[in-house]
Amino acid sequence: MISFWERESFTRYNYAIIGSGIVGLSAAISVKELSPNSRVVVLERGLFPTGASTKNAGFACIGSPTELLADLKTMPEQEVCSLVALRHQGLLLLRKRLGDAAIDYQTYGSYEILGPDELYCLNRLPQLNQLLQHIVQGEAFGLAPNGLATSFGFNPDFAKAMVINHFEGQLDTGKMMQALLQLAAKMGITVLNGAHVTAFSDSGNYVEIAVNHPFMNSTVLFKARKMAVCTNAFARQLLPDMEVQPGRGQVLATQPLQNLPFKGIFHFHEGFYYFRNFENRVIFGGGRNLNFKAETTTNLTTTSTILDDLLHKLKTCILPHTPFAVDTAWAGIMAFGAQKTPILQLHSSNVVVGVKLSGMGVAIGSMLGKQVAELLCK
Ligand SMILES: Cc1cc2nc3c(=O)[nH]c(=O)nc-3n(C[C@H](O)[C@H](O)[C@H](O)COP(=O)(O)OP(=O)(O)OC[C@H]3O[C@@H](n4cnc5c(N)ncnc54)[C@H](O)[C@@H]3O)c2cc1C
Repeated sequence: MISFWERESFTRYNYAIIGSGIVGLSAAISVKELSPNSRVVVLERGLFPTGASTKNAGFACIGSPTELLADLKTMPEQEVCSLVALRHQGLLLLRKRLGDAAIDYQTYGSYEILGPDELYCLNRLPQLNQLLQHIVQGEAFGLAPNGLATSFGFNPDFAKAMVINHFEGQLDTGKMMQALLQLAAKMGITVLNGAHVTAFSDSGNYVEIAVNHPFMNSTVLFKARKMAVCTNAFARQLLPDMEVQPGRGQVLATQPLQNLPFKGIFHFHEGFYYFRNFENRVIFGGGRNLNFKAETTTNLTTTSTILDDLLHKLKTCILPHTPFAVDTAWAGIMAFGAQKTPILQLHSSNVVVGVKLSGMGVAIGSMLGKQVAELLCK
């Protein structure tokens, strides 16, 4: 049994947010901005956030040409533009809220590498620039100078051309999440770790939330006037009817290299592969497209199929002339569905859901969190 004091001071809130990823923390911060005197708790099952927000590669992206052209084949033009706008606005809000220094936001350059079969997209750049002009207030894409890919040391058969994106950058994922947690603490938001939510019920007047107490191995009941589910790829554990599929992303980081020939962020194959410098290391991830079925999982382990593919591409395409050693590798879980647009909905009168960020949450997470808060505080 919990004590009277624990019940009164630790389990009663105006707002409870489930999940301390970028969306949950942004939602909590936005709630406090809208309702400064309210008691807000974030319930997180992990020792620290344990989904995608601490496991991505730190790309601050609005979309690469091949990705956007692929989207235009499956989505109406207006929807593609709305998503780019959400990504752009989300990144501006994230940077404004936390400050570029705190998240180590850098603009060394953002490039899409085009292989021999993708050169067609160079003819489509004017169309894409026109489409995005009103969103970014400028020309999003330009052709990288001749010889730049060679000076970066890439295999010329792999990098036939490169497109520069003028509105993207890179950040330090760990610092971003620490900065969000520190801002939440400064605003008086309680973040409880080891708080696995197993069930909830909305009575109409308040929401009762069942939380597993990891040390006592018992269930503690929390009460909140309103609640938000921000558990992204894990949404179906609480909401089995949600149209959300997990998608694992695997990443590796090299040891520091003596002469790293490039700086910046790079994408190829419609964004399915991505690499960047972090100081003088390379962080390289992707390859989910090799086996979509196997990667539709919430299992946080890495696999040799994907890591071997990443290593092969690193050796033959990206660093063909530079010896390297791998420091570490990891996996994170994203959330996908039939549509790329995130789910933002009122689940019941006091429960809001903000999930399924389709691998774009660094960019759109702050805005989705804000929209969740606006629905909660309505
Ligand atoms: C390898 C990789 C590369 C990526 N690349 C990019 C990129 O280039 N650009 C981009 O914008 N985005 C990228 N992303 C996606 C981005 O990281 C995610 O979209 C974003 O972090 C999702 O944030 P979230 O808060 O919705 O979910 P998460 O960060 O997954 O947070 C959900 C939290 O809920 C917690 N939780 C789950 N169930 C419960 C429960 N029952 N009780 C309590 N807590 C619970 C989890 O432990 C977790 O901490 C990438 C992700 C990965 C993994």
